[in-house]
Amino acid sequence: MAIPVQATSRTVTLTIDGREVTVAAGSTIWAAAKAAGIDIPVLCHDERFDPVGVCRMCVVDVGAPAFAASCVRACEDGMDVKTATPELESSRAMLTGLLLADQPEPGRDPKQTTTGDNELLALAGRYGVSREDGLPTAAGRGTDLSNPVIAVDHDSCILCDRCVRACDDIQGNDVIGRSGKGYATRIAFDLNDPMGKSSCVTCGECVAACPTGALTNKPIRSIPIRPRSELDQVESVCPYCGVGCALTYHVDRERGAIAFAEGRAQPGSQGRLCVKGRYGWDYAASPQRLTVPLIRRDGAYPKGALSTEVRGEMNAGDGQEDRGKRRRRKPGGLVDYDEVLPHFREATWDEALDLVARRLTEIHAAGGPAAIAGFGSAKCSNEEAYLFQKLIRTGFHTNNVDHCTRLCHASSVFALFEGIGSGAVSTTYGDVANADVAIVTGSNPTANHPVASSFFKQARRRGTTIIYIDPRADTMSDHADIFCQLKPGTDVAFYNGVMHEVIRLGLTDTEFIESRTSNYPALAETVQDYPPERAAQITGVDADVIRRVARAWGEAGAGVIFWGMGISQHTTGTDNARCLIAMCAITGNIGRPGSGLHPLRGQNNVQGASDMGLIPMFYPDYKKADDPEVRARFEGIWGTGDLDPERGLTVTEIIGSALKGGVRGMYMMGENPFLSDPNINKVRKALSTLDFLVVQDIFLTETAEFADVVLPATSYLEKDGTYTNTDRRVQLGRKVLDPPGQARVDWEVVQDIANRVGLGWDYGSPREVFEEIVAVMPSYANLTYDNLGPAGKLYPNPDPEHSDGTVVMFGDRFKTDDGLAHLVPAEWLPAKELPSPEYPFVLNTGRLLEHWHTGSMTRRSFALDAIAPRAEAFLNPDDAARLGIADGGMARVTSRRGSIVLAVRVSHREAPGNCFIPFHFREAAANLLTIDEIDPHGKIPEFKFCAVRIEAADEEQA
Ligand code: SF4
Ligand code: SF4
Repeated sequence: MAIPVQATSRTVTLTIDGREVTVAAGSTIWAAAKAAGIDIPVLCHDERFDPVGVCRMCVVDVGAPAFAASCVRACEDGMDVKTATPELESSRAMLTGLLLADQPEPGRDPKQTTTGDNELLALAGRYGVSREDGLPTAAGRGTDLSNPVIAVDHDSCILCDRCVRACDDIQGNDVIGRSGKGYATRIAFDLNDPMGKSSCVTCGECVAACPTGALTNKPIRSIPIRPRSELDQVESVCPYCGVGCALTYHVDRERGAIAFAEGRAQPGSQGRLCVKGRYGWDYAASPQRLTVPLIRRDGAYPKGALSTEVRGEMNAGDGQEDRGKRRRRKPGGLVDYDEVLPHFREATWDEALDLVARRLTEIHAAGGPAAIAGFGSAKCSNEEAYLFQKLIRTGFHTNNVDHCTRLCHASSVFALFEGIGSGAVSTTYGDVANADVAIVTGSNPTANHPVASSFFKQARRRGTTIIYIDPRADTMSDHADIFCQLKPGTDVAFYNGVMHEVIRLGLTDTEFIESRTSNYPALAETVQDYPPERAAQITGVDADVIRRVARAWGEAGAGVIFWGMGISQHTTGTDNARCLIAMCAITGNIGRPGSGLHPLRGQNNVQGASDMGLIPMFYPDYKKADDPEVRARFEGIWGTGDLDPERGLTVTEIIGSALKGGVRGMYMMGENPFLSDPNINKVRKALSTLDFLVVQDIFLTETAEFADVVLPATSYLEKDGTYTNTDRRVQLGRKVLDPPGQARVDWEVVQDIANRVGLGWDYGSPREVFEEIVAVMPSYANLTYDNLGPAGKLYPNPDPEHSDGTVVMFGDRFKTDDGLAHLVPAEWLPAKELPSPEYPFVLNTGRLLEHWHTGSMTRRSFALDAIAPRAEAFLNPDDAARLGIADGGMARVTSRRGSIVLAVRVSHREAPGNCFIPFHFREAAANLLTIDEIDPHGKIPEFKFCAVRIEAADEEQA
């Protein structure tokens, strides 16, 4: 295999096709030619992979006896390169003819794409080569249609290894290799398994890389995949996780549908996608979309859930007494429209909006500001989040407005504000490439932030030490240099133990501590009580491993910490995050490339929605809601005189208030707390108790069953707006499709309600709203719809015309009042509900790669539902054996709050005594079991720890 030569700062000058070209030493001839605008055809090469030089299509004449493969041959001073002599073109034509002779006849199944985007056939066109009649057809290496959305035609494969390198080098999934010998050689998934049965995660990177018809997308919802030239291209952003990958939708305008999606160049995601971004967009075409406003019929009162499952006869209490009563769920586990819709009647928009405005105004008049609350959505755009909080604050004079950030990183944000004065990341996920050591903790990034995880895996291949710390041995542990499988809820003890050892070894950055931090002595005193042996006793991680982590972290020239909800979703979430801040601060690992703090944000726009003030304690740009000066400023900006002087209630507090008769009227835009909030039985009671609930959503969700009015909204595919990802990258999402029926864009609906309660708004477009956002929020200064460009920009950005924005923050000072990082020591505290003889297991909840939150989008996506169709409880093999439950067998999982029955996945990734259940599935809703204890500072619930009992069950109980 040819070894690629790395470019350096030295330059070389050569001649290519008579043109003098100067490039960095080590540049390949192919790259130099490309930079000079000279196209050299390739088949096996892709700039994103290390070159292998096997196909010989890119050969050039360098004056040597043999042609040189330009993708691997380095430029040399004085070299005279010819790229398109008659001999070279003849060689390429012959090579194309030979490869073509071995191809199956065009159009043969299962080749799903047409020929326009097939690079080999494009070369055939370029060189005027056609497949000779009468040649034996290439057949025999077989086809593989086992993956729901990817077709494999081995006969079309030219063994260029682009798919192998895409899978290994880009995504770090290491699925594809080769099997067979001679003519029978073919690509192989794992041990030559069918693709759909292999460890493939359907990221589609191999399809994007394949230059022939060997790996192709299958049509989704019968929309044929045609050449790009026959489709419209719309550049947008993935709607799922906070990584915010840039993508292009290829749209079939005749059919009004998306044909396929592909990754798009952007400094963060660099063209990569995961299965959700690449294949999970067809939910927007679901026949279950809401298309007309709905008003609850008089006969559907008194209020309460409408479907059998959401009414929850089966799941209330511990469930034992109700066995066998519940009706079987409908396939797919979604709200049963046939059962629920008859309880609503169709209405005009005017009738529905008038009713919403009248009822919320009446409740406000009777109960005051405290009687009203709003849940916005981190799935909506910045503009929509901004207008929603502005409506609740100026229309109803309350700060009772929140969204799912409360269930995600609220504790991280609290600790970050307290510690460094800013809740956003201090550096980007891509900066891991500059880190000597990266700690990934309380996170399952291969499932939750898959594209970010591909950069972590890639960094490790290039020398970064990855330390993975988590109670579950998730896939990331396969890619870690050090893996610490700590006991759930022991993070503070672990990090105190590491810091104890860092200090003992003298590996702190004393200069940084003295000049950039405060309160170090108190921190040092606290961690003094956590020698590795004590930390080991609490965490279950060997003391020597803790020492190893401390040494690696303390000796790193640059270290960065990425964390997820395994850190934040605890009653000690703020303390957990305080420890991570201290870890970075005492070693000077913040404010330099390759170092810093990065809470991986969950939803696609949870960063932006928080920035916009969709939270009860902050106005836009994190200005304190209970600060009189701030309030006076926003009263001036918004032209109102009576903003709420107190902080509002959080998501969980609003539910509690509703139960006690405080909050009486709610506006819910795009949230589904029935499934997403802890202790569903409590949420059910709260929603039933409300005097008035309006739900604005794209589907009839479980929460909508409690609504008085349901407003049909648009999906992100049907509107323009900006979204801010986990890196602080503000990107434009563009309208791809028309909304179905009478569905309307959310910001217009919010404006219509605002005007019906007398606010007199007249925004004409999201662009206008964004201009107000930028005027109000210094962090977003200088950004405009025009300068965001196709890749978006990071904020803060002093010069968006020339710069992508600020990658590394806090180089000189932190955003605290005194500019210092405030170290806050934390003592380890046990979780609120520990295992007991009656409830001996620890339940941990989270997400699957294929699904998103309450499943309303992903369970209506063909690919995602096909790959992960059912709820499963993940159990350690020893536990499963002891309980007498085989893989695929059924189990009843019961906590003090409820009970669910679901299938068991026996998994070596779970530690004994622990059980993991994803929370996407309403028919086995994990949040029936979770506890609603909250972190005292961030007010985030303890989703990651409660005690449960597990028993074998049978299919009938499901
Ligand atoms: S879809 Fe992704 S994981 Fe699967 S084989 Fe292709 S590149 Fe690898
Ligand atoms: S990593 Fe996140 S943003 Fe990127 S494609 Fe996957 S779900 Fe979408």
